[in-house]
Order: sequence, then C-alpha cells, then structure tokens
Amino acid sequence: MPHGHCFFWEPDILWLHVVSDSLIVASYYSIPLTLLYFLKKRPGLRLNGLIVMFGGFILACGTTHLISIWDLWHSAYRLEGLVKAITAALSVATAIVTLKLVPEAAKIAMPEEAANMNLALQQEIEARKEAEKKLLQHLESERQAGEARLRAYFEAAPEAILAMSADGRMRLVNRQTEETFGYDRSELLGQPLEKLIPARFRGAYSAGRPGFFDHPVPRKFHGDLGLAGLHRDGSEFPVEISLNFLEDPGNPMALALVTDITRRTRARAELSRLNVELVQANADLQQFVGSASHDLQEPLRMVISYLQLLERRAKDALDETSREFLHFAVDGAARMRTLIQDLLRLSRSGTQPADFRQVSIEQPVSAALANLKIAIEEAQARVTVNPLPNLVVDAGLLTQVFQNLIGNAIKFCAPGVSPQVSVSAETSGAEWDVSVRDNGIGIPPEYTERIFGLFERLQSAEKVSGSGVGLTIAKKIVERHRGRIWVESTPGGGSVFHFTLPGKR
Ligand code: ADP
Repeated sequence: MPHGHCFFWEPDILWLHVVSDSLIVASYYSIPLTLLYFLKKRPGLRLNGLIVMFGGFILACGTTHLISIWDLWHSAYRLEGLVKAITAALSVATAIVTLKLVPEAAKIAMPEEAANMNLALQQEIEARKEAEKKLLQHLESERQAGEARLRAYFEAAPEAILAMSADGRMRLVNRQTEETFGYDRSELLGQPLEKLIPARFRGAYSAGRPGFFDHPVPRKFHGDLGLAGLHRDGSEFPVEISLNFLEDPGNPMALALVTDITRRTRARAELSRLNVELVQANADLQQFVGSASHDLQEPLRMVISYLQLLERRAKDALDETSREFLHFAVDGAARMRTLIQDLLRLSRSGTQPADFRQVSIEQPVSAALANLKIAIEEAQARVTVNPLPNLVVDAGLLTQVFQNLIGNAIKFCAPGVSPQVSVSAETSGAEWDVSVRDNGIGIPPEYTERIFGLFERLQSAEKVSGSGVGLTIAKKIVERHRGRIWVESTPGGGSVFHFTLPGKR
C-alpha cells in the first residue's frame, strides 16, 4: 500500500491537499525569513533566542506539510514521523521558553501604555524645566538684590571710593567721590586719575602706578605723607589713601579709598598749638611758683626771726593776751614757711632734671626714715621694711615719695594708737607695685582721689600739721617714673598707698 495510496483519492480532493499544503509550506517558510530580516534591522533586541527557536519551530511545521505533499504519492511515513518528532520537540521547547518569558514580556510596554508613559515623562520634563527656570529667576533676582545692596553700601560709604583699571582710568566712583572732588561722575568715568591729583604729585604717581599693578598688595598712604587731592575748583585738600586690588585675571582693578583729612589735620594742628601753649603756660607757672616761693622765703625768715626775738625779749613786758597773739603770729609764720618750702619742692620735683640710676629701693626708704627719725620716735611708730627690688629710679625724688607716704602714715593715726607702718613690693612681671600700709584713721572713699590734688586736706592745719602738697608731689614724681599712684582705704581701718614702677627700662 505504500505506493497506491493516492489512487483512491478523488483528483479534486488530491489537488485541494496539494495546493493547501503548498501554500502552508510557503507561508511557514516565509515567516523565519521575515524574522531573520527583522532581526537584522533590530540587532539589539533582547528576545533573540526566542525568535530563533520560534523560527525553527515554524520551519519544522512547514516541513511537516511538505512531507504531507510527498506522502500523497510516496507514503513516506517514517520520514514524516521523524519530522513530526523534531517539530514536536521544537514546539515543546518553544512553548516552555515562551511561558518562562511571560513575566519579562509583560513588562514590555504596550504602545498605548508607552504613549502614556511618554506623556508622563514629558510632563515631568516640563515641570523640571519650569522649576529650573523659576530657580534661575530666583537666583537672578537674589543676585540683583545683592548687587543693589552692595551698590547702596558703596554709594553710602563715607569715604570716596574709586576703582581704576590698569591703564589708570577711573571705572567706578561713588557719591562721596563726587562730593569730595566736586565733579559729577560722568565727568570722571573713563578719565585718568591724574585729574584728581595736584600737578606736583602727578609725576610720582605715574611712575608708581605700574608697580602697584605688578605687586598688587594692599597699601596705605597715611596723612603724614602730605598727600593732597585736587578739587574741581582748583583747591587742594589733605588726603589719606588706602589702595586695594581686585583679583580679576585680564582685568585687574585698583580700589582706592580716599579720606579727606582736612578736619583731622586742622584739629591736630590746633591740638599741637594748644599743647605748645599749655607747656609754655605750665613752665611759666612753675617758674613763677619757684621764684615766688624762693623770694618769699627771705622776708618770711626775717619776720620769723624778729617775731622770735620779740617773743624772747619782750615776753615779760607783755600781758597774757598779747603773748598769746605773739604766739599765734609765730605759729602762723612757721606754717607759712612749711607751705612755701613745700611749694618750692613741688616746683622743683617737676623741673629738676631727674637722675635715673639702678639702685635698691631700700636706699630711698632708708633716707626717708632718717629724715623722719624725730617724728617716728615721738609717735613711737614701728616701721617694717620688707625686701625691696633694685630698679632704675631717681633715688632723691623717690626719697620724697617715701617721706611723704611714711610721714602721713605716722601723722594720720588715731590718738593713743602707736602707728604700725610696713613698706613692701610685689611684681607682676612688667612692673613693681610698691605699697606703704598703715593702721591709721583711713580715708572716706569719696576722698581717695581728691587727696592727690594740690592743697587738698581732710583735716585742718590746726589739728594736724601739713600743707596738702605732699601727695601732689608724690604723684608728680611717680608719674615722672612712668608709674601710677592710688590708695585703698577704709575709714578707721587703715590705708594702703600703692605706686607702680616699671620693672625694666
Ligand atoms: P598733708 O599731709 O600735708 O596734709 P598730703 O598731700 O600729704 O598733705 O595729704 C593730703 C591729705 O590726705 C591729708 O591732709 C590727709 O587728710 C589725707 N591723708 C594722706 N595720707 C593719709 C593716711 N595715711 N591716712 C589718712 N589720711 C591720709
């Protein structure tokens, strides 16, 4: 039967099979070719493997139909079975691979979905562009606001500010520049800076300018250099200039700050004139006090001598009241002598040339104690002197300071109390603090500064002798040593007088 099979078929049915199978074969075979063509056009496609399998599967299907045509005449069932088996294997494999690819394939956007996504993406891009634009606008307005602020500061600056390019021309000036130099800015911009410089300075300026740009470091031209600015009306005024540089490669700028120091210069001149006058007046006064007290001494000595003579000779001839009067006269004259001597000392403490030498401070203290010997004994005072440093001082002047301070410490003691005085010194490095401590009556706080003034006393001369000059002299001498003097005290609790002396000279 293998060969006779087709003879039982009606011819039209036979040809129906032949034509149909042929068409199926042609179609099936064309599909892999189309796929090959497609793959060639889209080499990057991810589903390559599946397409190859699918192509193989379709090819195999086509082949089964080809075999069917052959079978119509030859009944090659073994060959047909083999081809079917191959087709089956390819079909099953393709089916499995396709199934496995479903999750992956599901991700591939459908055209509609893709369009939606595209739209969303487009909208996102638009929104971003919009945001970017807003941000840029914001930044720009911020920048403009910042610039406006800067410009406002620049304009409001109390100094004339000028920016100058390397060719020496003015590129930017503020309002104060217009005011200081009397020009409108339109008359300055683009003009050489020489326009604002008096002719006699122009040469030096032009010679110096390239150097400024070669070494662009900030510079200051102080008022004492005698620099001047040139006003539009031809007048000149003293200036102080500070020069700065703006780092801008290719376009370096110098920024000049010009201060009109007319008023300052005038004030300084006035001050030094007053100072000269003051020094002169002070010297005159000192001279006067010196000579007056010196000249007063002689007649006073005469008054005192004759009064004392009178007291001795006419004592018995006078009645009690007259003797008392005479005693007051002698006493008053003696006080006047002390006063005049103190004034003379005061005047000398300022005018006498000082003799600074390195000595132990114990030396002026001992000298003062020797001068105060009688007062110390009378008051039964105890004076303790602690170790004192070696310093460069005028020992003679310092003796007066110690004599005043220790003398006061003994003098201003409560009745019936024996004075305890101690002298010591401490250092804080740069200077020494010398102190004289007592157990006296103390000083009310409101007087602790006043007592250093001339003739300032808290007790009447009748009660406690003195002229109110001692502390003034002490202050003057300490200040000549570049030191300070002050007192720490509590009324009834004693006083500590401090003064400083420089440690190194
Ligand atoms: P004087 O001793 O001649 O009065 P000073 O100038 O030395 O003049 O002193 C001024 C005044 O300061 C004194 O009159 C006294 O009232 C007060 N004073 C000075 N030293 C002391 C002291 N150690 N204790 C209390 N008071 C003092």
